[in-house]
Amino acid sequence: MNLIPLYILFSRLPRRIEVQKGTFRCPHCESMQSCTGYKVMRNKNLEGEFIECHACQGKQKGEDFKYNPATQVFDPVMWDCPYCKALNPNNTFRCRTCHKSLV
Ligand SMILES: [Zn+2]
Ligand SMILES: [Zn+2]
Repeated sequence: MNLIPLYILFSRLPRRIEVQKGTFRCPHCESMQSCTGYKVMRNKNLEGEFIECHACQGKQKGEDFKYNPATQVFDPVMWDCPYCKALNPNNTFRCRTCHKSLV
């Protein structure tokens, strides 16, 4: 008999672990919604993070948001434009103010 123990099989599957509940501005709902932040783990390695909207069940990339414990809001991560210094959301590549593209 050469069976692989079940727990080894299961430990290789990615698992999602609840990290934080909060609110965020959902790009699908276009309004503030309650949401949960998750980590995806495979074995002991972090595979990624995402935020799931409670209203539309849509998933957003965790790196585009940063949890603020004071307000319990996942604030969008912003980048500042190298040309005009305006702040832009992390999921855009073109400056909203001067319309220059990063890529
Ligand atoms: Zn939503
Ligand atoms: Zn700009």
